[in-house]
Amino acid sequence: MSRIAAYAIRYRITPVDPQAHLFEVRLEIDHPDPQGQRVTMPAWIPGSYLIREFARQVVSIEASQGTRRLALHKVDKHTWQAPACQGTLRLRYRVHAWDLSVRAAHLDESHGFFNATCVFLRVVGRDAEPCSVTIEAPSAASDWRVATTLPRAGARLWGFGRYRAGSYDELADHPVEMGAFTHARFEAAGVPHDIVITGRHDADLARLKKDLTAVCEAQIRLFEPRTARAPFDRYLFLCMAVGDGYGGLEHRASTALIFPRNNLPHAGMTGVPEGYRGLLALASHEYFHSWHVKRIKPAAFARYDLERESYTRLLWVFEGFTSYYDELMLARSRVIGVGDYLKGLASTVSQVLRGPGRQHQSVAESSFDAWIKYYRQDENSPNAIVSYYAKGALVALCLDLEIRSQTAGRYSLDDVMRLMWRRFGRHFEREGKGLAEDAIGPLVLEATGVQIESQLLDWAHGTAELPLQALLAGVGVSLTLKAPDEEAPALGVRLSTRGGDLTIGTAYTDQPAMRAGLSAGDVLVAVDGLRVDERSLKQLLARRQPGDPVTVHAFRRDELLCVTVRLAAGPATEASLSLDEKAADPAVRLRRGWLGHHD
Ligand SMILES: [Zn+2]
Repeated sequence: MSRIAAYAIRYRITPVDPQAHLFEVRLEIDHPDPQGQRVTMPAWIPGSYLIREFARQVVSIEASQGTRRLALHKVDKHTWQAPACQGTLRLRYRVHAWDLSVRAAHLDESHGFFNATCVFLRVVGRDAEPCSVTIEAPSAASDWRVATTLPRAGARLWGFGRYRAGSYDELADHPVEMGAFTHARFEAAGVPHDIVITGRHDADLARLKKDLTAVCEAQIRLFEPRTARAPFDRYLFLCMAVGDGYGGLEHRASTALIFPRNNLPHAGMTGVPEGYRGLLALASHEYFHSWHVKRIKPAAFARYDLERESYTRLLWVFEGFTSYYDELMLARSRVIGVGDYLKGLASTVSQVLRGPGRQHQSVAESSFDAWIKYYRQDENSPNAIVSYYAKGALVALCLDLEIRSQTAGRYSLDDVMRLMWRRFGRHFEREGKGLAEDAIGPLVLEATGVQIESQLLDWAHGTAELPLQALLAGVGVSLTLKAPDEEAPALGVRLSTRGGDLTIGTAYTDQPAMRAGLSAGDVLVAVDGLRVDERSLKQLLARRQPGDPVTVHAFRRDELLCVTVRLAAGPATEASLSLDEKAADPAVRLRRGWLGHHD
């Protein structure tokens, strides 16, 4: 008996037609359900909270048993049922893979990438069973290799061949890249970390390795200060360098990242340019998720239901805290300076303050409705919703500073993270326990002795403004706010230029343009009788005062509108943060604890 027969569920995937972007999958199921086996494609991928209905990309499917062809019955949009049969059920199907993102599948003549949730049908009722996955090479490209953290079952490291997974959940959590990629390796806390880059690039790999080593070691030590033990025995950064594109998806021992190739460090580069800082923050963010959401989880995610939405009000904890720590860990590991850190934090503050939606939706509500709101944004989203990433990060900042201030620096949010790690994360695979929806207040109290329930009601479950100025002052950091163009009055719109047309992207609630009857989609033609583009409009407004009327001509579809807009001073949304040189000693001590003993 060959080793492969030890698995009763066997997948075999072949990049069968890269020009047509088709993977072929053959699935063998021993002992199928005698009533008729069902197979189903997931509707979403964990980490990205939108129903994507991956079954849409299955272009053909057939079933057989022995030499007998079986008729498959489609039961619902993503489920097929085979007729009752004995012995091994065989399915053969093709999946179209032309979505160059971290959450789907992509195949052309340069490379292939897939998440199991897009290509591997689940065998209904047998998610908990182990399976084998044979990854085949394309017939044409001889220099392709495989990058994945799927456990190997015969395949050589970086080789095509047989891999395995202990369950469908594990299978779904190890994306696979194949191609002629760049590879670099470093060690953090004794654990090998691989970087794989697909796409043309001229990266300074030595710089990237040095910076990522510092960030990864700092995170491992944050969660396990005593043992410095990572929760995986190897980690993989799967990077896609593109002209334009941005995103990341977390997995238990890897992450898939997509970013502009110009964000990579290059030879002779000095300092940390903004693009590179963004890339490091993205890598830091997804790496932090290895603990926080892949192992410490909301109870709602302890077992993902891949057929429908999984609701939790805690994404502000899992995405917000992660967004808080992603750049903070860059500062603490000294990969970026304190000045750069404060610049990034200020831009998060501005991002939250620009959206009037923060007055209508709490981060807990934003978490719950992520499926229909945050992930499905439209022209009114800034008026209606708040980001559980950006505001969640500021809530984390407030919690951290409040704990530090109330305990004179003895405790911090780090202690809460470590308690969550010990209680839920470290043994998640064995115990499968997740956080209850109301767990945060009691955990903060237990970890730090600070009673935080009433603040949580305001900050996470309410829409009041966060006390950022006061809390930052307590750690010797000054926050100042001003209008975007201090000197000029504003229309109260977000503009974009599309095909040469100056178009309103969003008309902000209760701002002058909306009050005058202008809306998203309207094309601005002239102001006070003069044709405008983005630059000339700015110049014109700079010569007016708040309260002045201006005449605006705009097209709504093909109809010309003429309205009078009464200008107003822009709201003070633009934040800047600086170290307070006159801060008292206790504040400076707290600041050093917060940012890692340097400034
Ligand atoms: Zn995230």
